[in-house]
Amino acid sequence: MVLERAGEPLRLADLRDPVPGPGQVLLAVRACGVCRTDLHILDGELSEPKLPLVPGHQIVGTVLGAGERAERFAEGQRVGVPWLGWTDGDCRYCASGRENLCDNARFSGYDLDGGYAERALADERFCFPIPADYPDTEAAPLLCAGLIGYRALRLVGEAERIGFYGFGSSAHILCQVAVHEGRRVFAFTRPGDEEGQAFARSLGAEWAGSSEERPPEQLDGAIVFAAAGPLMPAALRATAKGARVISAGIHMSDIPSFPYEILWGERSLGSVANLTRRDGEEFLALAPQVPVRTEVTPYPLEEANEALEDLRNGRFRGAAVLVP
Ligand SMILES: [Zn+2]
Ligand SMILES: [Zn+2]
Repeated sequence: MVLERAGEPLRLADLRDPVPGPGQVLLAVRACGVCRTDLHILDGELSEPKLPLVPGHQIVGTVLGAGERAERFAEGQRVGVPWLGWTDGDCRYCASGRENLCDNARFSGYDLDGGYAERALADERFCFPIPADYPDTEAAPLLCAGLIGYRALRLVGEAERIGFYGFGSSAHILCQVAVHEGRRVFAFTRPGDEEGQAFARSLGAEWAGSSEERPPEQLDGAIVFAAAGPLMPAALRATAKGARVISAGIHMSDIPSFPYEILWGERSLGSVANLTRRDGEEFLALAPQVPVRTEVTPYPLEEANEALEDLRNGRFRGAAVLVP
């Protein structure tokens, strides 16, 4: 499924099978998760995708072949491809353990063709083995919703009472991880989304309500998954002193101005960007121990546009996954 121009639907196309270059593996795609970032790319909110582009950065595939010097995985092995597809390895960020901020990073399904396809290429150094307990479709959302959410959770710090604003693919995974870590989860959904609130409670949230409500207690930290800027000051207003509020999305509408007093008391606002390979290794080791169970809605690959529109309109619980 190919994006030719922002603002247009994806087009079903027959492409030539890609040939793995040095260090790359060729994958038979088994499943590819749909992410809100894909919607931002489609809508032209992220300005510089490769075009034409095969989107998709939560790829579960089996190794079909390898290019020169690619020896990490055996043929037939199941691997995952995340958003971080390549880094230069020597900029000031890479040199200081922050490859997620690499000046020259290339991202899967953005700078590089991704997994909305039957075949995909990946740099073997940026792939992860997939934990055996997960079927293909259920593993796919771990690769972005899970592991970038995990990085956001780490940035929030030790918060005992944690708020999740927007209870979609990422929050439904992180809720399970947070409860496993002994935290108390407060889930915020769109006003009136009672099904979403019940879903959050079923995954261990102690309280669930509308993003316009104040939680019954102050929060020690919050992650804002929804792309709505007004949620940042709303979350700040719900926090206790010292809390961190982290935006987990790559794009957000403008954050309205707010009085300094809601930031006072060593509260902070921040963002999470991308992932490091270490985040991925840590999270994929942790997920089976929780154990994280992902709720997925599978779509045939050629229905990618429907999956994206359903994501836009909140028509499913958990995560959408494309299956070739
Ligand atoms: Zn993503
Ligand atoms: Zn770098």
